[in-house]
Amino acid sequence: MTELVLPKIDADQVVALASELTAIPSQASNELAVAEVVYRELNHPRVELHIEEVVKGRANVVARVRGGGERPPLVLSGHLDASVSERWSRDPYQPWVQDGRLYGAGVDDMKAGVAAMVLAVRAAADHRVPMRGDLILHAVMHHDTIGLGEKYVLASEGPHEGYAICGEPSSLDINTANGGALKFSVLFRGETAHVSRLEGARDALGAAVSAYGAVQQMELPFEPCDRLPHLPRKVIGRLSGGFDPGKVAEVAEFHGDIRTVPGMRREDIKRAIQEVVHDACPADVDIDVRITAVQRPFLGPESGHLIDTIRRAHTDVRGVEPRVTSRLPIQAFVTDAADLAHQGLETVVYGPGDWHFGPDQSIDIAELVDSSRIYLAVAAAL
Ligand SMILES: [Zn+2]
Repeated sequence: MTELVLPKIDADQVVALASELTAIPSQASNELAVAEVVYRELNHPRVELHIEEVVKGRANVVARVRGGGERPPLVLSGHLDASVSERWSRDPYQPWVQDGRLYGAGVDDMKAGVAAMVLAVRAAADHRVPMRGDLILHAVMHHDTIGLGEKYVLASEGPHEGYAICGEPSSLDINTANGGALKFSVLFRGETAHVSRLEGARDALGAAVSAYGAVQQMELPFEPCDRLPHLPRKVIGRLSGGFDPGKVAEVAEFHGDIRTVPGMRREDIKRAIQEVVHDACPADVDIDVRITAVQRPFLGPESGHLIDTIRRAHTDVRGVEPRVTSRLPIQAFVTDAADLAHQGLETVVYGPGDWHFGPDQSIDIAELVDSSRIYLAVAAAL
């Protein structure tokens, strides 16, 4: 089967579409323009297609190519939002190719992966590739962190049975588990005063710094998960406060992110943070601990029909077997696979790229093109 679909994916087209998607900023609440390119690319008589603004300016694209109906569908899922760092050596929105790699904003998470999926779906329609089940694409808004776009599609139209490949960058390892995420903020409110009248001041920044150290050190309440041995882990990525070197800070806050294992509950973690923060801070500073976003962990099957099919297609295309793993760093990613699996779909994470947050993000072009071929081969073989 794989050799029949291989020539149906054109490498230049994959790179061209990946570049086009990469050139469109979708960093902050503005996936619509990227979604419109995905829609245009899939506008074809044999593709059932719609674009929907889930919230204003932020759209999902859902596409379906009908199969024979003897098997449940395969969903290819990718997100349209991308996070992009500072300090690039060139303009990140003018993608460039160098030494077999494509560079550009969010190319490895996951503009290129979306391009690979789009062109697999397009080729299935163009070439009438025989499939026993439908092939569905979910190109979704607002993955980060809560998976709003994927949750919306699944709630509104499903499917609620079948198979799903979440195309987050796994270096084409078949990834079967990752942690959930829980983001939190702690706000400190005191009373300002000039350095000349410190008596009676209540220092929010001092409280925040004391609490920062305590929360960094704290033990989280959890039961270990043997498939996610490096979790939980946490980071406090933002600390701010004060306004003037000569005046006590009235307000300060920090924001953190915990990558969770199954069973870690929002209320327990909130209570644990509250206790640690209250113990670390002077009683006269007001404290507000909030949980600001939660996504569930993903634990998929470690064997089965989907994994076997991907393994065969991958081996045919790449000449080596893929690893089946839940290694770091993907173990600490948060993916929409969690929601796809929660809906009852047999799900894995399997996508091109080895994501590093930082400047000059890039992806190996051969791996990218192969991923598109493998997606199509899996759809044909399932
Ligand atoms: Zn991602």
